Amino acid sequence: MNRKDHVVIIGAGIIGAASAYQCLNAGLRVTLIEPERPGDQQAASFGNAGWLSSHSVLPPATPGAWKSVPKWLADPLGPLAIRWKYFPRALPWLTRYLSAASNYTKIERTAVALRSLLAGAPGLHQEMANQAGLGHLIVRTGLLHAYLSKDHFKQDEKAWKIRKKEGIEWQELDASALAALEPDLDRRYTFGVLVPETGSCRNPGAYTAGLIEHALSRGAQFIRARATGFRIERGQLKSVLTDVGEVTCDKSVIAGGIRSKELARLAGDRVPLESERGYHAVIQSPEAGPRTPTMFADRKVIVTSMEQGLRVAGQVEIAETDDVPDWRRAEILRKHLAALYPKLPTNLDDARVTIWMGRRPSTPDGLPCIGLASGCADIIHAYGHGHIGLVSSARTGRLVAQLATHATPEISLAPFSAQRF
Ligand SMILES: Cc1cc2nc3c(=O)[nH]c(=O)nc-3n(C[C@H](O)[C@H](O)[C@H](O)COP(=O)(O)OP(=O)(O)OC[C@H]3O[C@@H](n4cnc5c(N)ncnc54)[C@H](O)[C@@H]3O)c2cc1C
Repeated sequence: MNRKDHVVIIGAGIIGAASAYQCLNAGLRVTLIEPERPGDQQAASFGNAGWLSSHSVLPPATPGAWKSVPKWLADPLGPLAIRWKYFPRALPWLTRYLSAASNYTKIERTAVALRSLLAGAPGLHQEMANQAGLGHLIVRTGLLHAYLSKDHFKQDEKAWKIRKKEGIEWQELDASALAALEPDLDRRYTFGVLVPETGSCRNPGAYTAGLIEHALSRGAQFIRARATGFRIERGQLKSVLTDVGEVTCDKSVIAGGIRSKELARLAGDRVPLESERGYHAVIQSPEAGPRTPTMFADRKVIVTSMEQGLRVAGQVEIAETDDVPDWRRAEILRKHLAALYPKLPTNLDDARVTIWMGRRPSTPDGLPCIGLASGCADIIHAYGHGHIGLVSSARTGRLVAQLATHATPEISLAPFSAQRF
């Protein structure tokens, strides 16, 4: 490797930010290309739930999930919505999505791959954040799963057994232990599972923006532009094409989140990437909330105390990437919040609430694409992180830097190949 090799990173979301951090550590010259403000509302990295969930090793679907789909779709408070006009185009992806989790053998295979990406991730984030002067944004109180009862937890037992196989440990909390840990929580929740190895981020947008600023302070360049393609000559990358001109480079990283699909195609790989659109609502100066970021298994929402206030995030909406948001989905989240923390006022002043819609860049099998492009080995895929892009960004950045410097990747990249589809 020539230590002056110039790597152009396309996209300044959390994947681009972590990649920039690690490429600089590896001695590379780094340029970031991004048309918007890093970590702002356009990025999924802005509004996620902040979970550094190193135990998120299961794909989003489960065996038999298709049986629940009609019920979820019929329930206006349900976690899943489909824009019917988009359904025919989404159908091949949806079929693969359900098929990838159709039995526990497939799920266990996914869990092994995801665990290799996620093990130790909260510590890697803490280290990266500390180095960038952002240590205050990372919290290591663990993450909590709240269940209505132990019986409800038992319905999830297979998932927890798979986590156990991957070396994940947790503490089970009965009703009184749960109430002691979370005094504001609705008492109908009588069973909790606390995963101590995990953590959370108190402001994912600021974390992303801060990592980019840190990269710039270390000599990285920032070009406000949209990447449109590549100039490849005799198999070698010459430059990244943008709407403001060409940027000459030796390597490039595709980290454009949901917008990566076309760039991946231009690099020789057809990847089935879809938006799993999600929403959040944030209540400023909340009267109540969790001490530990909490996932509610029955409602499929996550509630996290953030710098901006109390954030409730969730929902999966299958719709065209640029279709208008359906803000009723955010309103649903807000309603969940009122039910979960009874001390929150039901008649909240709208001025105290902000809402957001973001696009998870999702592959049907729940695994990201990390690896070399088939059309040019100078181009690196780093997108498709779906529900786990924040937590998995730390190791993804390391892998990107290893690929960019021709070092042996620290984990097997076979499960993450963009050529697997
Ligand atoms: C509601 C919700 C909750 C979530 N909760 C969690 C969670 O708790 N924990 C977790 O780990 N994950 C969570 N996620 C997932 C996580 O947010 C994403 O996986 C992650 O943010 C993806 O990061 P990214 O950098 O790939 O994409 P993005 O953050 O979307 O960034 C991509 C960037 O690329 C730029 N870009 C696009 N096209 C181009 C181009 N042509 N040229 C240059 N730049 C371009 C975009 O402007 C954008 O800034 C959640 C997601 C949602 C929606």
